[in-house]
Amino acid sequence: MKKKLISIVTPVYNEEGNLDKFYERVKGILKPLKYDHEIIFVNDGSKDSSLLVLLRLAESDKQIRIIDFSRNFGHQMAITAGMDHAIGDCVIILDSDLQDPPEVILDLIMKWEEGYEVVNAKRKSRKDGFFKDMSAVLFYKFLNAILINKIPENVGDFRLLDRKCINVLKKIKEKDRYLRGLTTWIGYKQTIVEYDRAKREWGKTGYPITKMVGLAFNAIFSFSRLPMKLATILSVMFFSITFLVIIYALISQILGQTVPGWSSQIIIYSIYLALQMMILAIISEYVGRIYTQVQDRPSYIVANYINFNKKPRD
Ligand code: UDP
Ligand code: MG
Repeated sequence: MKKKLISIVTPVYNEEGNLDKFYERVKGILKPLKYDHEIIFVNDGSKDSSLLVLLRLAESDKQIRIIDFSRNFGHQMAITAGMDHAIGDCVIILDSDLQDPPEVILDLIMKWEEGYEVVNAKRKSRKDGFFKDMSAVLFYKFLNAILINKIPENVGDFRLLDRKCINVLKKIKEKDRYLRGLTTWIGYKQTIVEYDRAKREWGKTGYPITKMVGLAFNAIFSFSRLPMKLATILSVMFFSITFLVIIYALISQILGQTVPGWSSQIIIYSIYLALQMMILAIISEYVGRIYTQVQDRPSYIVANYINFNKKPRD
């Protein structure tokens, strides 16, 4: 029987000091297993000598593949490229800075063999410093309060995906990718394994606050309808306020407690504002629908066909 193939996908951005150790540890885990493997490094426009280190490693190990980006396209795109080019029966994504301990790969594979199609690695603890740890906790709480599909808390991009899931993800071409959201969104049999997140072995984070905010925006705009609904919610509020303002202005007018012209002005002004907000709400509904349409995610995903003689054509 043909051996199953495990693809490891790892994004690399200025990791020259981590790569040898990363390779050693990952290889040490994979080699004794009964599976074939490939290790795909995606060099995301590193400015240090990461590529040279990778080329040296690839010379002696033909199971290493390198995808070398022309510039920095960001972590999410690096993972996407890795998944697009992987040929394995499953794909395991992990960081190349050894924050995701390669030993957890064994737990991920075990769950996969039990029949799970998405195995998420969840951080039991993290050691990234107070700011990063706190912001992650708060961000996940906020996100899950407004998201349509809840994403598991404290789960990053460290996970195993079955070939079926990879094939579905490959069809999703949206540009502002928030993979953590997408891997939840696709469904399938999902589970979690827990691990202790390690400290970065060498170098510094390639995720400064600006990139973190960018990622957060992608999460919010791609997976929540709240921004789209904001104009509608405000519109209802404005109309209620306008109603009260009109009553107040009329009463003041009747009681003669105001200067001439004030009531009519305030009434016209608030009706005008409420109408404007209503038109914005209508436009944002349309824009929202256009956005969903151009995202062009599949409308549904079939995991199994039962009693179909032939699988319907894709
Ligand atoms: N990374 C990348 N492109 C970037 C930033 C980071 O490919 O623009 C890689 C990086 O080499 C690492 C992973 O993505 O393997 C996670 O990045 P990092 O460790 O800097 O983020 P943190 O763990 O601090 O959130
Ligand atoms: Mg890291």
